[in-house]
Amino acid sequence: MRILLIFKDSIAVERLAISQLSAVLKAAGHEVRLAILGPTLAQDFAEIVSDFAPRVIGYSAMTGEHFALADLNRDLKRQFSFMSVFGGPHAIFRHDFLEDENVDALCIGEGDIAFVEFCRRLEADESWWETPTFHARHEGVIHRNALAPLVDPVELPFPDRRIIYDADPNLARSGIKYFMAGRGCPYHCAYCFNARFNEDHKGLGKVLRARTAEQVVDEIAWVKEHYRLETVAFVDDVFNQKPLGWINAFRDLYKQKIGLPFFANMRANAIREVDIAALADAGLTLVWMGIESGNEKAANEILQRNLSNEQVMKAARILKTHGVKLTTQNLIGLPVSNPFEIDLETLDLNIAIQPTYGWSSILYPYPGTPIEAYARSNGYLSGELAYTETNKRSSMLDFKDDREKRRVENLHKLFGLIVAFPFLRPFTRHLCDLPLTGFYRALFWGWYGFSVKFRLTKSRAIWRELPYLLSVFWRMVAKG
Ligand code: SF4
Repeated sequence: MRILLIFKDSIAVERLAISQLSAVLKAAGHEVRLAILGPTLAQDFAEIVSDFAPRVIGYSAMTGEHFALADLNRDLKRQFSFMSVFGGPHAIFRHDFLEDENVDALCIGEGDIAFVEFCRRLEADESWWETPTFHARHEGVIHRNALAPLVDPVELPFPDRRIIYDADPNLARSGIKYFMAGRGCPYHCAYCFNARFNEDHKGLGKVLRARTAEQVVDEIAWVKEHYRLETVAFVDDVFNQKPLGWINAFRDLYKQKIGLPFFANMRANAIREVDIAALADAGLTLVWMGIESGNEKAANEILQRNLSNEQVMKAARILKTHGVKLTTQNLIGLPVSNPFEIDLETLDLNIAIQPTYGWSSILYPYPGTPIEAYARSNGYLSGELAYTETNKRSSMLDFKDDREKRRVENLHKLFGLIVAFPFLRPFTRHLCDLPLTGFYRALFWGWYGFSVKFRLTKSRAIWRELPYLLSVFWRMVAKG
């Protein structure tokens, strides 16, 4: 069967779920193509669909992207006959998306096995509308099926990188490439999709799942052999929580077969000196670690971070001892009566820790997350939300006045710079009052790009990427 996969270009980010899906579909004998909806990848979708004639079009949508993808689907449905299936976080959490009559089915959980089964039933003319993990419309009736068990990533083939890199050669040219050594996160931070995802999947298998160290290293070795690869970025939610013995096995194999610097996401409470020593020996050069808020009450009672500031500082000290750089992740604009004051505490905690880079995002109340419910019930959100595609431009929360909103949004843009240059701290209130948000946005992305390319990594051939990096910069500034 011919299956066309579509996602919206999230600018310089590889969509690993799509390459994983392509791999399992191809392994099941299907013909798969990918098209990316994006400003620099102008594609004539009608021509693609007319030429390829897919039986199924599978869209992967994050909240915010779903508007453009739904419009595209509507347009294609007017011209062609195919089964439209939406997956990804928006479909997982907004089951009412199926009320759009041009959407035929939603994949409401992990699609790696469920989507293959859906396609098998469709091709065999069996009851595809009863596939587990799918909500589907059949003869005017909506069928809401239960979730299938969680997928064991050990059972999956390597992601199909070619399909992504052929569709977007910029990603192939980038020296940083993304990998996953496992899936799932057992925590339930209120702003993260894992809280609800884990709740929905209770009793359906282990939340935290690791691939074998051999699988992970073999996949990286394949990519290293076929594409430009200078830095490996692990995007597991919590890389440092692996089964006993995994980290040492990984260290030995990685050193022997890969030998490149790598990054990983870690959680402060799970950072153990012995693991960091082993990983640094293997090539770990940078850790992304969530701080979220410097105000412990907000961090633990509202964001449900479940970490003390002391744990965060201790983890930062361990990383520093082993020469590992740190990017902290922070949330700005919380649903509290004095968000700017709370954000200043977050800024001060970062200044005390002195990470290599202090990253910040504006709190985005994703649908179905506990923070969305909290913000609504406490009067910081109302009505149907105009979900944006970015959490870097403005806040969706209702603040007490426009001045507070501007201060919060400006602090978000200046956050990384003030952390790096603490002499700016005494001027922070004044800087955040100025009506310079557009200029600050350019500073935000400029500093981020500079930090990624010169402070967090050492790209060997920056000039090769320069035109692409400049285009990314302008697109980021325009987007948010
Ligand atoms: S630790 Fe990270 S991935 Fe896990 S629930 Fe919290 S925010 Fe989400």
